[in-house]
Formats: sequence, structure tokens, C-alpha cells
Amino acid sequence: MIPKVYKSIVLGSGISGLSLAWWCRKSKPRDSLLVIDNKKFLEGASAKSAGFLTVGSLNFYNSNLESKGTYAANEILDFCQENHELLHKEGLLSEDVSYRYAGSYSITSKSIDSPHYQQVSDPGVLLKDGEKSYFYALDGSVCAPQLLKKIKQLLQADMLFETSVKIDLKNSTLSLGESTISFKRLFIANNAWFNTLVQTPIIQPVRAQIFRSKPLTRQWDANLYFSEDLVYMRQESDGRVLVGGQRMLDPDQEETFDEGTNNKIQKALVEFAKERLGTPLEVEQAWSGIMGFSKDRVPKVGKINDNVYYQVGFSAHGMGMAFHLAKLVSQWALKGQPPKEIPPYFFTK
Ligand SMILES: Cc1cc2nc3c(=O)[nH]c(=O)nc-3n(C[C@H](O)[C@H](O)[C@H](O)COP(=O)(O)OP(=O)(O)OC[C@H]3O[C@@H](n4cnc5c(N)ncnc54)[C@H](O)[C@@H]3O)c2cc1C
Repeated sequence: MIPKVYKSIVLGSGISGLSLAWWCRKSKPRDSLLVIDNKKFLEGASAKSAGFLTVGSLNFYNSNLESKGTYAANEILDFCQENHELLHKEGLLSEDVSYRYAGSYSITSKSIDSPHYQQVSDPGVLLKDGEKSYFYALDGSVCAPQLLKKIKQLLQADMLFETSVKIDLKNSTLSLGESTISFKRLFIANNAWFNTLVQTPIIQPVRAQIFRSKPLTRQWDANLYFSEDLVYMRQESDGRVLVGGQRMLDPDQEETFDEGTNNKIQKALVEFAKERLGTPLEVEQAWSGIMGFSKDRVPKVGKINDNVYYQVGFSAHGMGMAFHLAKLVSQWALKGQPPKEIPPYFFTK
């Protein structure tokens, strides 16, 4: 039986919601804490993700550089590095979540001048004429469902899976079917579905395609990002290869809440991998997940009233950013002032 009153309630059990719950637990160990999801556990984008940690992708860096300038691009990169470090410090990155730490290569035709990226000649995949490759040392990866299970287990929060959740802001209560629960603090972390719960249209659903191959004998460690092709690849410790991306091949079809595989994109991913690895991959499993995109592709945080906060819109980078941001948003809720470490671009205007 779930109690009728909680100090903190989090909506959403992806990496964002579980991270918020983690920091609530850490700062107030005795407070009652509930995580509610309107689906089953491991059904959101986080569990479907490729598990890249930190966001060393040059594509993301360049897009921040173009839209926000050098200072902001570096600030966001530092923010992601801190995310990786915090996961370490909290003891969440180890073999039981298949953690790997070997950096990343970004393949691009552009030149980049940043102390974070070193140009290297051999990224271990085939390059096209005019392409260069840049190494970024601080990227890592995890098996995302394993990390989520670990956080959930260590948290020891009450968990509830309930399809109908309505917020009554005036009374600080949630209606869940027949029952009502009151909260002192509420955190909304439902990403792609944010606009369906709160009438603030800042997030758009975008589907992402990915596949896992059968094991490949040839081994490599680092994450790979193909910047202009919007493809990423990494090899798991058992030799299986994850390949994802290329949503721009069919953008209209991929703006959807419907999970499902897109044959055109899946086929292109297989072809792409064959061309770059110089060997065909045999698909073992193909799937998709629904991401929550903000307009400028960086997460959005805000306050709906004095005790309701949100962090959503992680776009393609929630595994690389949510744990750090959750620490800061939970501090904001406890202290009443937003910590200065939250980059200004993350606030909803
Ligand atoms: C195929 C794929 C590969 C990706 N690879 C990477 C990667 O390698 N690295 C990276 O950083 N990012 C990656 N991403 C993006 C990343 O997965 C997301 O940015 C991240 O998972 C967002 O986390 P979240 O917790 O905000 O959202 P989610 O994980 O989607 O969690 C939101 C949860 O809210 C629940 N919910 C919805 N509505 C309600 C409601 N009304 N009440 C209660 N709960 C509700 C949903 O059921 C869901 O469980 C990838 C995404 C996909 C799809």
C-alpha cells in the first residue's frame, strides 16, 4: 500500500527521474520518496539508448559553437564531463553496468580548433576523402538498462507504475486513478511526454533508430561518432556492435510517439557500418526509442510553481547530462535558488 503523503515525488523513471530521486535521497536520506512512471520500468528512451557517457561528439560541440559561441560550447562540454565524474564518485560506474572508458573518435570533414579534441590519423575505421578524425579522451559508455537497474536498486525509493497521472498544482496533489497523493516537492522528468502533462509546448518527440549486431571478432574500445552522417557506433565487451542514428534520412516519419523500426533507416545503418568497418554486420536486434527534443538540443529546466520543478528535453544526450543536472535541480528545490552551475541556456525563457 502506497502512503498518501510524500516529501518528494518524481514523475518519470528514466535516467532523468532516477537521477533526481538519487540526489533527493542523498540530501534528505530520511524523507519519503516516490517515483511514478505511467509505463513499465525501462520503457523510456534511457533504456533504449546506446549508453554513450559524456557528449564528446563533435557534432554536438559544433552545434553549440554555432548557436551559442565558444564559451557556451566549452561550458556544456565541461558540464557533460562533470556528469561522467559524478557517476564515478557515486560509485555507479563499474563492471556490473558494463562500464568502458576509452574516449571517442569524431569523424568529420570540418576542421576544429579546441584543446579538447586532438586530430589523429587512424580512428580504426575507414575514412572518406577529406574526412579527419578527432580524439576526445573523456568519453565512456555503459549498458544503459543495467545502469538504470542499479540506480533503482540502490535508491530504495517507493516505485509506482500508474497509467493515469494528473497534477493538481493548487493543492499540491496527484490524482492517480481513484487515489490522491500529496507532495511537498514534485519533479517532472517525463521528457518526450512533457507537453502532454503540462501546457508548455517546449519539447518535441523524435524517434531514434538503433541496432545491435552479432559479435564481431575484431575489437575496438573507443566510441565512434560520424558527425556529418549523424551515425554513432560502439562495440560492447562481448563483441556485439551498436549502430544508431541517421534520423535525417526520414525526418517526418521520425517525429512521432510511436515506437517501431523504420526499415529505410535501419537498412541504411547496416550499409553504413559495412562501408566503415569494411565487413558486414549481422543484425541481432533492432529497435527505436522516443527522445524529447528541445529547440536548441540542450536540456530545459524550470519551475512551474513554488514546489514543482522540471528537467526535460535531453534530446540525444540524456545519458551524458541528466545525472549532473538532477543534482543541481534537486538543490534548487531544496534551497529555493537555482545553483549558478546550471548553464543559462538550460532555463526555459
Ligand atoms: C536509440 C537511442 C539511442 C540513444 N543513445 C544515447 C546515448 O548513447 N547517449 C546519450 O546521452 N543519450 C542517448 N540517447 C538519448 C537519451 O536516451 C535521452 O536523452 C534520455 O534517455 C532522456 O532521459 P529521460 O529520463 O529524460 O527520458 P526517458 O528515459 O524517456 O524517461 C521518461 C519517462 O517518463 C515516463 N512518463 C511519460 N509520461 C509520464 C507521466 N505523465 N507520468 C509519469 N511518467 C511519465 C515515460 O514512460 C518514461 O519512462 C539515445 C536515445 C535513443 C532513443
